[in-house]
Amino acid sequence: MIEMKALTRRFGATTAVNGVDLFVPPGQILGYLGPNGAGKTTTVKMLTGMLEPSGGSATVAGYDIRRQSLDVKRNIGYVPESGALYQSLTPFEYLQFVGQLYAMDEKRIGRRIEEFGEFFELQNHLQQTMDSFSKGMKQKVVIASALMHNPQVLFLDEPLNGLDANAALLLKKIMRNLADEGKTIFYCSHILEVVESLCDRVVIIHKGKVAADGSVKELKTMNQRSSLEEVFSRLTRSEDLGELARAFSRRITSESKEEDE
Ligand code: ATP
Repeated sequence: MIEMKALTRRFGATTAVNGVDLFVPPGQILGYLGPNGAGKTTTVKMLTGMLEPSGGSATVAGYDIRRQSLDVKRNIGYVPESGALYQSLTPFEYLQFVGQLYAMDEKRIGRRIEEFGEFFELQNHLQQTMDSFSKGMKQKVVIASALMHNPQVLFLDEPLNGLDANAALLLKKIMRNLADEGKTIFYCSHILEVVESLCDRVVIIHKGKVAADGSVKELKTMNQRSSLEEVFSRLTRSEDLGELARAFSRRITSESKEEDE
């Protein structure tokens, strides 16, 4: 469960998150969408205890993000968009380290590492240092590290990044199963087709404020649009994107012609 009340974060003159009120119940996959710079990562950083709010309050898994930051961290899993691994370690060493941070017992840690190795087809790479890993292999280890301790709430920022089609399908099914078991999943992504097929509810944030909140079906009906992509575009971009694309292409091609002449 996640609850935000007037949650706000300012950076100097910029208000990145501006009075967001949201309640995300257990068992829900929430798609948190917004254009670049809308405030998604800033929201997640506050909820995961990485950034102090400038105003408002929030609880995650029932714990206050300001006063009970350590309890929040014990009860969440977080897949950030980038940069979460110690690449000089092997997956085995890294996951063991993460498990120890969560005070898991050694037997359980060993079992989990074996299971993850099998699920993500990394069993033959568990003892290799990760500096030689592909992007997708690293991402699988980051996902495994977020799930190690069976957290109540999961924050996933573009978790499918770099995954092949099979691994992506597997992760989507895992997310659905975890939500069905009562976990809360806060899912940030720009891949709207995935959001549309996976999320129970979608929140679109624009300039730090909630611009829309509902199921995909509700948002389409409310905005009289047939796809989530069109709803997103209507709420976050005032120009006609088709016309913008044509103008841009015309400019590029005419410049090339001028250079050729
Ligand atoms: P993207 O989709 O591009 O990842 P986002 O929705 O995650 O974007 P944020 O990273 O939350 O957006 O940024 C929201 C706003 O806050 C932006 O204007 C950004 O420049 C600003 N911002 C974020 N972090 C900082 C910081 N550490 N210092 C100053 N400004 C920041």
